[in-house]
Amino acid sequence: MDHAAIAALEDRHSSGGVTRRPVTITRAVGARMWDANGNEYVDCAAAHGWAALGHGHPEVNEAIATQLRSIATLTESSYNDQRARWFGALAELFASTLGTTARGAITRIHPCNSGTEAVEAALKFARVATGRTDFVAAHRGFHGRTLGALSATGTSGYRTPFEPLLPGFQHVTFNDAAALESAITDQTAGVILEVVQGEGGVHLADWDYLRTARQLCDEQGALLIIDEIQTGLGRTGQWFACEHLGVAPDIIVLGKALGGGIPMGAACWREGLGTFASGAHGSTFGGNPLACAASLAVLHVLTRDRLPERATLLGAGVLAELHAAQAKCVREVRGLGLMIGVELRQRVTPVLQELLKRGVWALPAGPNVLRLLPPLTISEDDLERAIGTIVDVLRAS
Ligand code: PLP
Repeated sequence: MDHAAIAALEDRHSSGGVTRRPVTITRAVGARMWDANGNEYVDCAAAHGWAALGHGHPEVNEAIATQLRSIATLTESSYNDQRARWFGALAELFASTLGTTARGAITRIHPCNSGTEAVEAALKFARVATGRTDFVAAHRGFHGRTLGALSATGTSGYRTPFEPLLPGFQHVTFNDAAALESAITDQTAGVILEVVQGEGGVHLADWDYLRTARQLCDEQGALLIIDEIQTGLGRTGQWFACEHLGVAPDIIVLGKALGGGIPMGAACWREGLGTFASGAHGSTFGGNPLACAASLAVLHVLTRDRLPERATLLGAGVLAELHAAQAKCVREVRGLGLMIGVELRQRVTPVLQELLKRGVWALPAGPNVLRLLPPLTISEDDLERAIGTIVDVLRAS
C-alpha cells in the first residue's frame, strides 16, 4: 500500500481523536524515521517522548526477543522473575535518586500500561491512603485523558467537552505559591504537579514552588504526587526532574520512556503509605514480563551510558544555539536538559509543517510553543542538523 491508500484507510476508520500529519511512517532506527516514500526525518520528539533510547535500541530489542521466548504476558496474580527484578531495580533507583527521607523511601510500585493509567492509580491510591477525596492541580498541567486523569488536567480545551468530570478537583495558577496555600486544606488527598509542564508549554516550576508544595502537603496531611511521565528517566538531566529542586514526592507517576516502546506506566509511592487492599486495583497487562524485561534494559542502558548527564550536556548546547539564533518570531526559549520549548509570537503549526517538509519531526506544546524532546541517544550530528534546520525555519518565519 502506498501513502495515499494507507491514509485513506486510516481516515475511513480512525476515531478522529488524533490529528495525523500527512506522512506514513514505516520504519525508525535511533533518532531517524522514514516514511513510505523513503523520506528521512530526524525525530526531535522521541515519538511523543517515549523513545529516550531512540527507536529500536538493540539491547531493548534483544531483551524483548529473549523474553518472548519464555512468557510475554502474565497478570500480577502470579509471581514472575522479570517483574521481581524490575520492582527491585526501580526501588533501587528511587533510593539512589530520591533518597530515603524521614517520610520513607519509595518502594511500592503499581505497574500499568500508560501514563494516564498511572495517574488513575495514583489518584485512587491517594484517596484510600488519606481517606479524603479532594485534589489540587495546576492550570495548564497535563496528566492524561481518561476521566480521572482528565479531572486533574488543567487545560479547559481538553476538559470542557467531557464535563462533568470527577468532583473535588481544584486548579490553581502554576508557580503561584499563595494560590496553592489557599487551595490545600485538611480535606486535600493529593496535590498533583509536573516539574516541567510539557503539554502545557514547557513551563518550569520555580525553585521554591515545589518546596512550598511539599511543605503545605506535610502541614495538611496531603500527598504530593509528582507526574514525571514526560520528565522522568533522564529527560531533564536528572533521573527525575524533582531532583533539580531537591523535593521528594509521596507518589511519583512514570510512563513514556519506562517501557522502551512497550506500553508501560507505573504509580510508585512511599513505604509508609501502605498498599491497596486486595482486589482494589489491578490490570490484565500491568507488570507483564515483556514490558518489565524491556524496562530493565532501558534502566540498564540509561545508567551505563550516563544518559541523564548526556541530556544536560546536549540540552545546554541546544538552548545556547536557540538563544543565539535571535529569530524575530521567538518570544522565549526555555528548557531543562533535552526538554526544550520555544515560545513563538505566532502559531506553531506552520513552523511544524515547514520542519516536516525539511525532515525534522518536532512537537507543539499548546498553540504557540515548539517543543523538542529528542532521544537522549541522538547523535551530535543529527542534533546539529535538526537544530540548524529549526533555526533556519524560525528565522524565516
Ligand atoms: N502526564 C504527562 C505529564 C504527560 O506528558 C502525558 C502524556 O503526554 C500523560 C500524563 C499521559 O500519558 P499517556 O499518553 O501515556 O496516557
